Amino acid sequence: MKTIAKMMMMTGMISGMAACQTAPGTTADSFRWQVDRFDDIKVLRYQVEDFDSLSLDQKLLVYYLSEAALCGRDILFDQNFRYNLPVRRTLEAIYEGYTGDRATAEYAAFEKYLKKVWFANGIHHHYSMDKFTPGFSETYFDALVAATPTELFPADFGTQEELIATIKPAIFDPALYAKRVNLDAGVDLLLTSAENYYDGVTQAEAEAFYAAMVDTTDRQPISYGLNGQLAKGNDGKLHERVWKSGGMYGPAIDKIVSWLEKAAAVADSPVQKEYIGELIAYYRSGDLKDFDRYNILWVGDNESKVDFVNGFIETYGDPLGKKASWEANVNFKNLEATKRTDIISANAQWFEDHSPIDPQFRKSEVKGVSAKVITVAILGGDCFPATPIGINLPNADWIRRDYGSKSVTIENITRAYVEAAKGDGFAEEFVMRPEDRERMEKWGSLADNLHTDLHECLGHGSGQLAPGVRGDELKNYGSTLEEARADLFALYCLADPKMVELGLIPTLDVAKAEYAKYIMNGLMTQLTRIQPGKNVEESHMRNRKLIAEWCYENGAEKVIRKVVKGGNTYVVVTDFDGLRKLFGELLKEIQRIKSEGDFVAGQTLVETYGVKVDPDLHKEVLDRYAKLDLAPYAGFMNPVYTLLKDGDRVIDVKVEYPEDYAAQMMDYSKNYSFLPSKN
Ligand code: ZN
Repeated sequence: MKTIAKMMMMTGMISGMAACQTAPGTTADSFRWQVDRFDDIKVLRYQVEDFDSLSLDQKLLVYYLSEAALCGRDILFDQNFRYNLPVRRTLEAIYEGYTGDRATAEYAAFEKYLKKVWFANGIHHHYSMDKFTPGFSETYFDALVAATPTELFPADFGTQEELIATIKPAIFDPALYAKRVNLDAGVDLLLTSAENYYDGVTQAEAEAFYAAMVDTTDRQPISYGLNGQLAKGNDGKLHERVWKSGGMYGPAIDKIVSWLEKAAAVADSPVQKEYIGELIAYYRSGDLKDFDRYNILWVGDNESKVDFVNGFIETYGDPLGKKASWEANVNFKNLEATKRTDIISANAQWFEDHSPIDPQFRKSEVKGVSAKVITVAILGGDCFPATPIGINLPNADWIRRDYGSKSVTIENITRAYVEAAKGDGFAEEFVMRPEDRERMEKWGSLADNLHTDLHECLGHGSGQLAPGVRGDELKNYGSTLEEARADLFALYCLADPKMVELGLIPTLDVAKAEYAKYIMNGLMTQLTRIQPGKNVEESHMRNRKLIAEWCYENGAEKVIRKVVKGGNTYVVVTDFDGLRKLFGELLKEIQRIKSEGDFVAGQTLVETYGVKVDPDLHKEVLDRYAKLDLAPYAGFMNPVYTLLKDGDRVIDVKVEYPEDYAAQMMDYSKNYSFLPSKN
């Protein structure tokens, strides 16, 4: 099964929204949204609005599920790279116990490196996938180790000498483990990627292993390979080390299960109790059929107010797109904002029938598009600290086909981005025309939320495969093309007069705001997240670049223009209707590529439009961005939940918002760390 990619990561895009409305009854002025800033990262906080509207049982459910969400953090560190846990623990030992002078530039560089490792859940950048370059020397690192009490270092990785001898090259040798996920054409994707999903296995061996397993006649196939490491044993044979109770990552999984058991006792509905039971069964058995059963029940539950994700879900971290990183989130429905997605869901068939794709690839019957707007209460694993703002699950194509999917827009996260970006000068720098700036200021927030709704709720769920096409034919281009398909569907729908008719937008200016920003981001401003000399790697960024560059070229300066004014380059949309037509044409082609599994056409599109960066424009964008002193990436601290008791009886659950990012990371490493340094 090829994952249907489904996260729309928040980007610098939102920084364009300089001023947005504040929801009534909140304390935006007094709440400190941004709590830390280092390198290219800012750490924000989100508010769990309306937590007090939950019943005591619902609050308890949030509490238990939150604990379960925090218990898998180590799994992700180990999945990302085999030495991430010993590296993190060694750095934390120094951070905790170093007896030397901390008021030096080198110590500050060390601390910054540790913060980056925490943020990325490992030594590779969470977005670019490149290994971090430490801003301190190997000699200084030796001095740090020497001045830290021995007993603080992890003792489960051999002697201290063995530990240091292993992690030093991992930290300092730029040639080693240089990239976490490599998607470059023409090389062995596994041997050139540092992720820990495969151990001593080549791409050809892995592909052959899974090809032999797949039954192509099965209409309901399990997600082969999803929940285990593929390793080569001493006998030279390949075997899967399944992530389950008693298997690889068992100690962390057992903790997760113990909290899920408590959660089941206060489940929000009978069906929720049932699927929490299925999830527990799956964690115990490692049997992907159990996981499918869980997903089928989960996707059908529209009744519970409190909901969650907890498991091995997304496959972006595996260059072959088979193995899933561990992630979690706990949330509850935002009843007021969900009225918006209810309207979209109710009209899903209309949008499908009117989409600009080849009629044979349209879904004749759009099933079970359930969409809601949620408030997240906790983020964990691969959703933390960087998090998506929309999620569409489950991933298995046949479950989506037969049972539908659940799609969410995470509005309290979007709100935190908007609040934190107020008055940051981004729009003034990059948006040339005042009318575009005004539209973005006025409608940007609504446009962003609707784009996410449409992308998640309609885009990923739209279209169908031709008979005999499995869905994994696009290989390493699959995620990019899938994101492009969902984005194009959203962009095309957003400017449909039907949106006004349905009352979703008061004016098509909302779509104009989104179009102008999307194209500017895809052609220019997302380059703020790319290091000089590098190309675009990450699937969502490739997708945005592909769409914007393709439309620019095919609009032949009549739809989108690049204007140079005062030495600055600007991107201006001059024909919004023409742009919508181009979105439609490209959507039609990408849907055909997916439906027919046309690998070569997909590869050509991505490689032509989605990857290569113009170095001059890149430099200009970086220079202008540097002047603003903004961070292109953001992530979050979690709130803390505490049980309030009267004797033994729980009477309430309190939510608090700590402000010290490093303290939260150290707390998690102390209290939610259940795996050995070697797995
Ligand atoms: Zn998506």
